[in-house]
Amino acid sequence: MTATATRSKIIFSDGQLVSLNPTTMREVGRVPVTTPDELPGILARARQAQSVWARLPLRERARRLRPFADHLYDQVDRIADTIAHECGKPVMEALNSDVLPAMMQVDYLASKAPRYLADEPLPDYWITWLMGKRGHLVYRPHGVVAVISPWNFPFWQTAGPVLSGLIAGNAVIAKPSEYTPLSADLVRELVATLDLPDGLFAMIHGDGRTGAALVAAGVDKVVFTGSPSTGRKVMQAAAQNLTPVTMELGGVDAAIVLEDADLEHAASGIVWAGFTCAGQVCASVERVYVAAPVADAFRRLVTEKTQTLRVGDALDRVDVGSMNNERQLTIVKRQVDEAIARGATVLAGGKSGDGAGLFFEPTLLDNVPDDVELMRSETFGPVIALQTVSSADEAVRLTNAHMTGLTASIWTRDVGRAERMARDLHVGTVSINDHLSSAGMPDLPWGGTKESGFGRLQGRAGLMTFVIPQVVTHELLPLKRPWWYGYDEPTRAMFLGIMALLTRRSTAAKLSAVWQILRNFNLRKLR
Ligand code: NAD
Repeated sequence: MTATATRSKIIFSDGQLVSLNPTTMREVGRVPVTTPDELPGILARARQAQSVWARLPLRERARRLRPFADHLYDQVDRIADTIAHECGKPVMEALNSDVLPAMMQVDYLASKAPRYLADEPLPDYWITWLMGKRGHLVYRPHGVVAVISPWNFPFWQTAGPVLSGLIAGNAVIAKPSEYTPLSADLVRELVATLDLPDGLFAMIHGDGRTGAALVAAGVDKVVFTGSPSTGRKVMQAAAQNLTPVTMELGGVDAAIVLEDADLEHAASGIVWAGFTCAGQVCASVERVYVAAPVADAFRRLVTEKTQTLRVGDALDRVDVGSMNNERQLTIVKRQVDEAIARGATVLAGGKSGDGAGLFFEPTLLDNVPDDVELMRSETFGPVIALQTVSSADEAVRLTNAHMTGLTASIWTRDVGRAERMARDLHVGTVSINDHLSSAGMPDLPWGGTKESGFGRLQGRAGLMTFVIPQVVTHELLPLKRPWWYGYDEPTRAMFLGIMALLTRRSTAAKLSAVWQILRNFNLRKLR
């Protein structure tokens, strides 16, 4: 692979991926790039290891994965510093939104997965009485799972699906983002300290070409977190082998501020949820629909709070760091310039920074038209667009009009009203008087609707992403099944009796149906 432009933050050099700090554009480190011809060997080793691993009892798998969290804690500063260096986000954010959620996830998986993935008896109503069977559900692993992850939470969003896949009995091959390979490589380093069969987990490095090669290599499941446009490509490629996919994609999330909101609280929460990680969060607040009676007061508060944010080097005590890469910075600049040219008012920020670092000022725009790119496509940068609405219904309609549906928030003192509104919002998560935080809760399912993807990570539903429910039944008595060959009149009459039992309501009709079933069942036996 050849070298690409310097400010793009991706450089390939002598078969290595060179990672740059987006604030200083200095090298943080490098990792070897995986070539496509290495993949068949990695996959074969993973398959072999998986067959051993999947046979271990769930509690044993949990016991072997749990030390991940201890090793993580022992090295917490080194890990948080690496994330901050590579991502550009403040160390505090690396700690609370990358390291801590990963730690919580390990604890959740180790304590809950053995119960959630244990065999379950099948419901025994029809299966026992009609079919004379007993049985259970087994949660079988897929086999080898590919985990493809983005750069904005490079540690957690790699570690979370990797550990979920492993505890469910899979082998996992992870392909993290080319923009943050060192942060993700720390996941590899920690997994390497665990007592796992050789080859059960592998991390491969490279850009989209490496991800595409992994999807085409014949894995059994793809868990993809990234942009909707790459998600489409991954789905198309996975369709060639009918490989199942889970898609965690982007969002253009809305916050709805109602007229009875605690405005101080709403402004603080929305400023944080719009600018944390320099707005490079899938569920960042990108649009705010504020009720007309409180629009002026809210605008004043949110502007003041935005203007006091300290922007700078992630390793200093700042609130907002740099953006991660030139590609994203270019999108932000283009969207903001277009919105301003189309009449949006700048309440704060609006420009990129000077110098080497990939900075963009925390930006608040008001009166942004609906049809500009900023409102239609994910911005993924430190920009919040405000619109004043005349009613809650209008806010719901505008929120739902978008092609993405990851999360939304409602800010109000009337929680009952917000609960009712939540049912009308076509998104994966609705937070009332908060935004974004539920993403870090390992017991809550995470995922979107529409172009934000499908399938879930985290929680019980997230564990199901990594398994296939398998039904296993056995006969209670070795009887010939009534529907096997030997079709005759008593069989027909018996099935009509079953249908009558299912559909008739009166006790007399039901008793008559039971009699019809038993009589014809006996006639069949005498045959
Ligand atoms: P991206 O789609 O550019 O890349 C994601 C990953 O896919 C990277 O590892 C990349 O190398 C790989 N990739 C690229 N082309 C590929 C291909 N053809 N086949 C296989 N893999 C390929 O996304 P990004 O810029 O790294 O991350 C930002 C995006 O991720 C945003 O849209 C954001 O909203 C989304 N995101 C979503 C969630 C969520 O939970 N829903 C979480 C974090 C980020």
